Amino acid sequence: MDSHMSLRSLNPYISCSICDGYLIDATAITECLHTFCKSCIVKHLDTKKGNTCPKCDMVIHRSNPLHGIRLDRKMQDIVYKLVPDLQKRESLRERKFCNARKIPYEKHQSGNKEKRVEDEKYQGKPISAISEDRVCIQLESKTKDLKPLSKKFICCSSRTTVNHVKKLIAKKLFHDLEKYCSVDILCNDEILGKDHTLKFIYVTRWRCKEPPLMLYYQPRVDVLNFSEEV
Ligand SMILES: [Zn+2]
Ligand SMILES: [Zn+2]
Repeated sequence: MDSHMSLRSLNPYISCSICDGYLIDATAITECLHTFCKSCIVKHLDTKKGNTCPKCDMVIHRSNPLHGIRLDRKMQDIVYKLVPDLQKRESLRERKFCNARKIPYEKHQSGNKEKRVEDEKYQGKPISAISEDRVCIQLESKTKDLKPLSKKFICCSSRTTVNHVKKLIAKKLFHDLEKYCSVDILCNDEILGKDHTLKFIYVTRWRCKEPPLMLYYQPRVDVLNFSEEV
């Protein structure tokens, strides 16, 4: 049997139409079951046409598109089985990505300096949206007092703290880092402590729910103007 030919005939089923590469962290749209790389579809959600399937234009979800996509681990297993070395290349690429950004890469460091140029197809692709040391969050304004962010979906290190998130919001909304104290961050309607890490919040507050971790921001309660309240 010519395995090369058979793999080629399968390619359309195990490739991502956004990046034209093999599926990485295969993620399906639950409505139409079209499947893409997780990082590709999450990036797509952040675009103008983000609430529709890039392939068939089906509406992904009426209110929150992230609730309309699911990781498809079985599909990913199939892709890794069919494409020899893909998994190895992917973890090598992630490790390089982490090294370049000084993000610790938890898996064992073998110590051999692989300087060879990777397959170009895998160059420049972002790290998967969720991995052990990264958390994907969605930031929404809780009240009309504060504007929504232009970029709501952010993937960051799981060691990012609530204070970091506050600073990010202060920078985006007020163009002034120092104003970070004037916002509170909430998860499930609970105001979060400034030193909590995203990983801690994910594990203790979000538990088994699907990513992203939904966080809300609002003006800090004790600086709110209550004069309008009766
Ligand atoms: Zn892709
Ligand atoms: Zn579709």
